[in-house]
Amino acid sequence: MTANAHKINQDDILVSSTPVNPFHRTLKAHGLHLDTGEIIALQVNVGLKCDRECTHCHLDAGPMRKEMMPRDTMDSIIHFTHTNDIKVIDITGGAPELHEDIEYFIKKLSLSGSSLILRSNLSAIYSKNDPFFELLTSHKVKITASFPSLNEVLAEAVRGKGAFTKSIKALQKLNTYGYGAPSSELALNLVVNPSGAFLSPSQDSLEKEFRKVLKEKWDIDFNSLFSFANVPLGRFKIWLIDSGRYEKYMRDLETSFNPQAVSGLMCRIVLSVSWDGYLYDCDFNQAADLYMKSRKTHISEITSLPKPGQPIQTGDHCYACAAGAGFT
Ligand code: SF4
Repeated sequence: MTANAHKINQDDILVSSTPVNPFHRTLKAHGLHLDTGEIIALQVNVGLKCDRECTHCHLDAGPMRKEMMPRDTMDSIIHFTHTNDIKVIDITGGAPELHEDIEYFIKKLSLSGSSLILRSNLSAIYSKNDPFFELLTSHKVKITASFPSLNEVLAEAVRGKGAFTKSIKALQKLNTYGYGAPSSELALNLVVNPSGAFLSPSQDSLEKEFRKVLKEKWDIDFNSLFSFANVPLGRFKIWLIDSGRYEKYMRDLETSFNPQAVSGLMCRIVLSVSWDGYLYDCDFNQAADLYMKSRKTHISEITSLPKPGQPIQTGDHCYACAAGAGFT
């Protein structure tokens, strides 16, 4: 986030230098521990290449990244999904639409019978051709689209020039294919991250506001909206530190710790696979280099999903997930 995009407000600057209480200790203090539940979803990161360099990106994805999932790793994942009962396969990145084998991957994964989700920054999908949209609709791929703000200036401060207009046009195009319509199987859900070092307002109030404004201004429909705190990792963490906001942001997250949210955290039901095929408890732990069970295990080395009750690797970035309503 460049200074000229957001005037630095002195109140935001560092108020105390004591680090937060380590996340695992906070869990313990509440008599909690973070273990896997029944793993029902596989989240696959197909690569770090993206057409954007968003300021809140925990994976430092961008146009210059070369890390893309090789075809043989894709084939290992396809085989794993065809031999295990996985309810949901969540394809993420970077911008997964930019992977040269994305159509192949979607076609093969859809044969597993699992429900497919594609995470999109909307700007990349806007450049895709009609056959790609037809592929998505024919396999009923759900779209989870990141749409940081209704305010063009704020959205572009996070995403860069031209992102807002492309996102609006992509949402309108998805609507023409039936995405986002109330009864449609083609779910279009929005993800909203705050555009700075603060927590989101309530998800319900945000959903009401986005639904009203998107409909009135651009005749856009969507199904649900999810709002999450920015995770202090990657590019966002660097900005927090460079702008002197890190300690205050970590304190705000710690203060907002919600013990009720822990049982519903995403990592309890997800197995996360990186672009090079290694296993993690979640996508954020990929950015934190926290391998599942602290052991570098490749998807081709396992034949079944992790069992319930397996300790999840945590770090202080986890406060972002357990803040407020939590990250589910
Ligand atoms: S970052 Fe969030 S989802 Fe990942 S292990 Fe921590 S609490 Fe769980």
